[in-house]
Amino acid sequence: MSVATLLANVMAFGLPIWLLAEEVAMRRRRILHSRRLAVFLALIITALLGAPAVEAGASTSVRVCDDVRGKSDGARIARFFAKGDVMPISSYDDDPFVADATIDCMDPSRFSLGAGGLPVLVGDYVKIQDEAVIYRANRATGVFEPFAWNPWPPPTSNADGNFEFLQEERFPLFLVERDAGGKIVLRDGLQVWTPVDLHRGMTTVFEAANSVRDASESWAGRVVPWGQNGQLEVNAHAFIDFNAFYSPAARQLFFAVLPYRLAGEPIRILEVGTGWEMAAHEAGHAIHHTLKPNGDPGDEGFRTWGESYADQTAMWASLRDPDRARSLLTATNGDLTASNKLSRLGEVFGVLVGDGVPLRDAVNDKKVSDTDDEVHDRSAVLTGAVYRLFVSIVAQGHGNPMRALAEAGEILGVFLTHATDYTPENRMTLEDVGKAYLKVDKEHYDGAYHAILVDELTARELFGADSVRQWLAHEASLPNLRLKDRASFKDVNDLVQDNLDRLGITPGFGLALQSVTRDERFKQTIVRVQLTEGSGRGALPLDNHGILVFRANGRLADYHKPIPDATPPDAGGLISLARRLALDRHGVPLSIVRKPDGRLTVEARVIRGTGINSWMEAFTLDNPRGERREVITPRIPSARGGSRRIDAAIEP
Ligand SMILES: [Zn+2]
Repeated sequence: MSVATLLANVMAFGLPIWLLAEEVAMRRRRILHSRRLAVFLALIITALLGAPAVEAGASTSVRVCDDVRGKSDGARIARFFAKGDVMPISSYDDDPFVADATIDCMDPSRFSLGAGGLPVLVGDYVKIQDEAVIYRANRATGVFEPFAWNPWPPPTSNADGNFEFLQEERFPLFLVERDAGGKIVLRDGLQVWTPVDLHRGMTTVFEAANSVRDASESWAGRVVPWGQNGQLEVNAHAFIDFNAFYSPAARQLFFAVLPYRLAGEPIRILEVGTGWEMAAHEAGHAIHHTLKPNGDPGDEGFRTWGESYADQTAMWASLRDPDRARSLLTATNGDLTASNKLSRLGEVFGVLVGDGVPLRDAVNDKKVSDTDDEVHDRSAVLTGAVYRLFVSIVAQGHGNPMRALAEAGEILGVFLTHATDYTPENRMTLEDVGKAYLKVDKEHYDGAYHAILVDELTARELFGADSVRQWLAHEASLPNLRLKDRASFKDVNDLVQDNLDRLGITPGFGLALQSVTRDERFKQTIVRVQLTEGSGRGALPLDNHGILVFRANGRLADYHKPIPDATPPDAGGLISLARRLALDRHGVPLSIVRKPDGRLTVEARVIRGTGINSWMEAFTLDNPRGERREVITPRIPSARGGSRRIDAAIEP
């Protein structure tokens, strides 16, 4: 294999560099003996760093370190660390009930130095930031209230300046301070838990979040500026529960801790963040929200897709870890059709419930008709469908099974992230997401996966008899627009303003340019627009958004209007009515939405609260005084029917 071919493969698949090393090793190319291989890898890395969105942040040492740690080469990792090339970090690869933590290697630039001169789990992309207290939800109001003093240490390294915490307990005890009478000590009304020296929850979350960001940027071919100014803040010990969530209002992650007791054992404490898949799932929500910034966090379709999106993020991102990929192949003998540790999410849940059944499993035959519309339950239908696509792509791979696995994971990651380019902006159904998968396939894989996608989506009732015809009709209806080469923001805006009628915008309405995003992977240009009442200078923005995608050659590849059927004739009348009801007096733009019965209405949606406590207040024509909508979807559905309650949970 020539260098050019290898490079072409890297560019085509965006494959992790360790895989390239694996490929080279497999072919036993004597020309590239070790020293030249290192130089060669460094050259490729340099080339990739030139396009940081494609393979961000991977130094040669980190990749080589990743590649050797499967062989427990502690001495070699120590050498890399001593030279300042890598930062070793204890992290679970799954959750503590599946396997003990391992040592991962991270890029040292992902950390910063704390006040004491030692590295801390704070970097440009992820920041571990606990509060002094741990909250508990008030049963009556649902509001999180301070409950105990946080006994976990700050996110600082060990005395050696790295994050190896080899001696820590895998299943630590839950300890509280008690008075002479045996009652839990309260200080300022909050419980005092005995300080613990446990780091593996925060290190696992930190590693998972950084991995998810790297994977997502590589798949999406663009920088994903999540959180605040590109930095995602994480409270690793936020509240008491078996749970975790991403708050789209705060743009932060919150992980719970859970005191629990298994039969015949003392009370132990579980840090939910020690579950790598759970941490990656929550980071996946943050990516989804960033790639689909106008998604209505109160919309059931967006939230249901979000759960599948987050589960898939955890699966496909985990395959970029060579240790994990290897152990998966070993454990399954290469047969991924049966339930396995990749497909199973949240094994810990089965332990705590006592039935051994994981929270969710991507190996499933679920259909719309045999699932609840609860967002996690329904999301498993889409996850199950795309997992089948994944298995078929792995099966089509030839030669090195590691390579087949990694390539399939990368392709599914491309489907995952790029589906955000081809769905309506504000609200969408899983059928819309299915159509977006057909579109990703058409644009980026020459329709290679069309048949299996249609079969799966139809069998699972995400597609109806008419779905493919509708998608083809949508494709045929796209206006013939062309963006000029190296178009500036103004060029894009001119094109939009000159073609409002062809974009389905009726007189009385306009479009304001919201953002122009370049995709470095496929050289596409993604344009987001906001609907306005009136156009030009006095235009009033509405909370309705459209998306246009242009191919590398400038031709329009896709367009989703701000309102599915364009601006309907009665929209102006509804907006006037909304004004008479003062819905426009809440400091946010009005939004035109379609009700479940198909009729249009107008509402104003305001995000309320801060941090861990946030929700949406919606002012509607039917309820102009406002109603509460939840925007935070806890990772665990509330105990529906009580069939799978966690009996092991202890009330502290
Ligand atoms: Zn979730």
